[in-house]
Amino acid sequence: MKQCESCGMPLDEKTTSVFDDRYCIHCQDQQSGELASKEQVREGSINAAMKFMGKTREEAEKMADVMMPKLPRWRE
Ligand SMILES: [Zn+2]
Repeated sequence: MKQCESCGMPLDEKTTSVFDDRYCIHCQDQQSGELASKEQVREGSINAAMKFMGKTREEAEKMADVMMPKLPRWRE
C-alpha cells in the first residue's frame, strides 16, 4: 500500500491529500496546501502511537525518531 512520504501512514482515497498524492491530509493542509513542519509531523506520530498502539511517550518518541528518517520527505 502507498504510504504518506511525510508521516508514513497508509494512504487511501480518504487520507490522500488533494494537493499532492505523496502526502496525507494530516501532513498537508487541505485548504492552503501548506505542509506540516517536521516537528508537527513528529508530534502527530507520537500522539498516534500513544493513542492507537498504547505506547508510552518515551517509546512513542523513539519510534518516531527511528521511522521518520526513513521516509522520503526527511531522508538525507
Ligand atoms: Zn502524512
